[in-house]
Amino acid sequence: MTTAPPLRWGLVGASDIAATGMVPAMRRVGHEVTAVLSGSASWAREYADRVGARAGLADPDAFLARDDVDAVYVSSTNDRHHDQVLAAAAAGKHVLCEKPLALTLDECAAMTAACARAGVVLAVNHHLPAASTHRAIRDLVAGGAVGRPLAVAVTHATLLPGRLRDWRLGDAPGAGAVMDLTVHDASVVNALLGTTAVEATALVGNQGPWAAGREDVAMAVLRHPGEVLVRTHDAFTSPYTPTTLEVHGDEGSIRAVGVLTPEPEGTVWLTDAGGTREHEVPDRRHPYDLTLAAFTDAVHGAGRPVVDGTDGARALAVALAVLESARTGTRVPVAAVVGNRSD
Ligand code: NDP
Repeated sequence: MTTAPPLRWGLVGASDIAATGMVPAMRRVGHEVTAVLSGSASWAREYADRVGARAGLADPDAFLARDDVDAVYVSSTNDRHHDQVLAAAAAGKHVLCEKPLALTLDECAAMTAACARAGVVLAVNHHLPAASTHRAIRDLVAGGAVGRPLAVAVTHATLLPGRLRDWRLGDAPGAGAVMDLTVHDASVVNALLGTTAVEATALVGNQGPWAAGREDVAMAVLRHPGEVLVRTHDAFTSPYTPTTLEVHGDEGSIRAVGVLTPEPEGTVWLTDAGGTREHEVPDRRHPYDLTLAAFTDAVHGAGRPVVDGTDGARALAVALAVLESARTGTRVPVAAVVGNRSD
């Protein structure tokens, strides 16, 4: 765990995930939560009491002027991430933004540039690449355990909890299973293969008992450089489907079960000429804690976030291509995102 001094956080967005996921993680790693910004003054105050923050505010200027906020965690609805990150960067605050980073790649580029100009860290809370199970799988692949990777399969089909059946099921930009789940898959697979998908083909649908908004199920096939094919299954409608990540190569296969959840859980199996055995993952620190640790180190000039703005944009590029493929019924190239890593 990080030895860097703790951060004082402001929450931009009085959201479920901040209260249930990230604030507990901030406390676990010894950080402070000082202020909350909401669009509603009464909700801001109620929420600040709930999470034990000093102040709940509806005035962004007053919130961003606070000198007891070193970094902001942006977890508003997806359509607000762009403007809120730009405002935070202009105020000199480091930013951990929820996924998807934004709604368009132009927005992502503006956010990345603004944070770079302001000299603040921008990270995206794609927590899965931080998980120890995912690190172990990446290490196995990089170490040649499966030989040449040929195919990856991601099953990320769950039942959307009742308390979250709100804007995700609507038809505003940023709603739907692709912007919620496929974008996570892309963050995982891009990191695993060290490349970004180059083209996508996809079908989406509406399976749930709720009024049809954007898609609540999506299946995609992606092509990565090196003729690696990836298939994803994302859904809000599937109560009993274990999440799985499989990597199949010419010398071995990895099957990981229960590893696409926010919790530090899941099992990794390796099959090769020697048979099938469990690959032990002894480090069971919470992915959010690991994300916060890397973020804090980056704020203090040591290393980089697990998922930076460019990585977040690359994950979004895949999700946007999936949506476009489903809309048009065609294979769609994934837009290139220029950044530090060369694909
Ligand atoms: P919520 O629906 O809980 O919150 C979104 C916004 O809705 C809040 O910012 C808040 O607006 C408003 N809101 C919520 N509850 C109330 C209320 N009782 N009264 C008034 N306003 C309310 O969103 P989620 O927590 O589900 O998601 C937020 C973000 O986090 C999204 O970008 C999502 O993609 C991401 N997320 C990421 C996860 C991950 O695995 N990394 C998991 C879950 C979510 P205001 O800010 O104006 O108060």
